[in-house]
Amino acid sequence: MSRIEIKGLNMVYQGADKTEALTDINLTVEEGEFVTILGPSGCGKSTLLEIVAGLIKQTSGTISLDGKLLDGPSDDIGVVFQDSSLMPWRTIRKNIEFGLEIKKTPRAEIRKLVDKYINIVGLNGFENKYPHQLSGGMRQRAGLARTLINNPAVLLMDEPLGAVDHLTRLTIQDEIAALWKKENKTVIFITHDVSEAVYLGTRVVLLSPRPGRVKQIFEVPYNGS
Ligand code: ADP
Ligand code: ADP
Repeated sequence: MSRIEIKGLNMVYQGADKTEALTDINLTVEEGEFVTILGPSGCGKSTLLEIVAGLIKQTSGTISLDGKLLDGPSDDIGVVFQDSSLMPWRTIRKNIEFGLEIKKTPRAEIRKLVDKYINIVGLNGFENKYPHQLSGGMRQRAGLARTLINNPAVLLMDEPLGAVDHLTRLTIQDEIAALWKKENKTVIFITHDVSEAVYLGTRVVLLSPRPGRVKQIFEVPYNGS
């Protein structure tokens, strides 16, 4: 189970200019859907994702996961950002196993899982390198593995390929699509790239950028395979 329901969500940043980042956003993402959220810079995409991830608090409105109200970060929700911000002093293996270490997973189990996810994201042979020894695309793969290894039911991605070169992006897009098919996770994927949104999403949601007005969500269902 992993159905996300966003109801009447408003976000006003409490700075000097009180930016109205989101106004009355309503969106339901069904279990197993891959929803891409498309919109230009500044329309509130990251704000929406950070609220769903429990990293910042909305001004009003609710987020629920399978009918249960979310209030703060949840183990059921994994997040991948544009900058995977790996810990530079830890090897790729040590970065990926971080979440399991915190949960005190037994060493043998950790080793097995890290090997599995290194393999899934195609970083075999790079386990013992440090982040700066890898390309940007490889670091994003490591960031993806670090989130996936915790087996979250819901995966939130905020322009994870925004800083990756074009050809590498196409490759990783296919890997993400294959992974989603195999593991059947609920995914919310943010991008400002139209082709990426249409290629990856089973549904594309457009977020309107008009400042000061209702930030309307338009849903574009897509029934391709
Ligand atoms: P997007 O991800 O679509 O580019 P954001 O969610 O980052 O949009 O930003 C939405 C609006 O909220 C923008 O006008 C932005 O300037 C503003 N904003 C984002 N973060 C903050 C913040 N921490 N404090 C004040 N305003 C912010
Ligand atoms: P990707 O990010 O999809 O792996 P890249 O173009 O970044 O694609 O890298 C292609 C290949 O080149 C990698 O799989 C790796 O074998 C090698 N490579 C790239 N950058 C480095 C690096 N900094 N150190 C070692 N090998 C690298």
